[in-house]
Amino acid sequence: MAKVMIIGAGGVGGVVTHKCAQLGEVFTDIILASRTESKCIAIAKEIGGGKVRTAQVDADNVPELTALLKQEQPLLVINVALPYQDLSIMDACLEAGVHYMDTANYEPLDTAKFEYHWQWAYQEKFEKAGLMALLGCGFDPGTTNVFTAHMAKHHFDEIHELDIIDVNGGDHGYPFATNFNPEINIREVTAECRHWENGEFITTPAMSKKASFECPEEVGNYNIYRMYHEELESLSKHYPSLKRAQFWMSFSESYLTHLEVLGNVGMTGIEPVEFNGQQIVPIQFLRTLLPDPASLGPRTVGRTCIGCVVKGVKDGQEKIMYTYNICDHQECYKEVGSQAISYTTGVPAMIGAKMIVEGTWRKAGVFNVEQLDPDAFMADLNKYGLPWTEVELSDFAL
Ligand code: NDP
Repeated sequence: MAKVMIIGAGGVGGVVTHKCAQLGEVFTDIILASRTESKCIAIAKEIGGGKVRTAQVDADNVPELTALLKQEQPLLVINVALPYQDLSIMDACLEAGVHYMDTANYEPLDTAKFEYHWQWAYQEKFEKAGLMALLGCGFDPGTTNVFTAHMAKHHFDEIHELDIIDVNGGDHGYPFATNFNPEINIREVTAECRHWENGEFITTPAMSKKASFECPEEVGNYNIYRMYHEELESLSKHYPSLKRAQFWMSFSESYLTHLEVLGNVGMTGIEPVEFNGQQIVPIQFLRTLLPDPASLGPRTVGRTCIGCVVKGVKDGQEKIMYTYNICDHQECYKEVGSQAISYTTGVPAMIGAKMIVEGTWRKAGVFNVEQLDPDAFMADLNKYGLPWTEVELSDFAL
């Protein structure tokens, strides 16, 4: 049906490539391009059968990427490199006439902001070019937006409160490691918390609000911490009836203690410092010391439980619904050689790409996933490895 180019050969890139290769009738030609081509070649070899071609590209370099896109002419770029590359890849897609999608919003290197305005500003350019840019199509953001849209469409007349709860009950056996790119992960969790309340974002110190959450299906009871996450911005914009929207993530005591110490000694800083006559960014140096998230697959056991609780009204009655997915780290490893965090990001990215390739979601302009009809995406989650459950709750408080 269509040729796609995947950019980024890390933990998530590996999963997206495996999942696209499983759907040969949809993704008839797959090119995996990244800064380090040897990583692309290793993934292509794992998949085998000559299903994936590879290329070397520096996605920060717009002319270089544009030339590759013009030569290959894919229908769509699936950007699973880092958030720093989003705008340069969008520029190259516009130049070459290629649709675009990603799983994380653009971030400048020197400020950990997690805001959509840089990418939303491309609306007119993509619309005029007749191209689509689909933003944030991983699990969170991505599937959490679709879960919210599905509940709003089928179970409520109006939604009022949203709590997105991301629990990773997995254990990789290291004292400290991150499940996706360490630099992005640490920037995210050390940023000030913001949540949506009565028409504005309220800022509170990072990790200052803690709650306990009992996951369904015996995944267990976890401490969760309120933090900012980018889907709060798009969901509060697209669902103006929301009076409150919050994001919560589970962290172990050991993770938080390590993070506190690293922060206290300045190792999580994003400003360059001089070391032996050279400028180094502490968090980038830290990244080189930490385990590569793509290597955690064989040693991670346990399950993730990510979902959304929505409160609102239906036919004049107050109602609470919870939609969630539970994913087993070792099952993911058996299927595609990765842990569940990369898997839960890579599968929705493949499904989003499929929605664009098949035309189900193809529109000109820049879109967040909740702006598109959730039904076909929800059906594909069940089909391609991330089954979900929707339940009504009698009570909910954090
Ligand atoms: P990794 O660090 O494992 O992989 C990133 C890949 O991008 C690497 O292969 C890297 O190349 C490549 N890359 C970096 N810079 C460039 C460049 N300038 N040109 C070309 N390639 C480049 O990260 P993950 O796989 O863990 O994460 C990928 C993305 O997914 C991130 O944006 C992350 O924020 C997002 N994500 C989204 C989630 C969601 O649910 N929405 C959850 C988890 C992650 P090299 O090997 O040379 O370093």
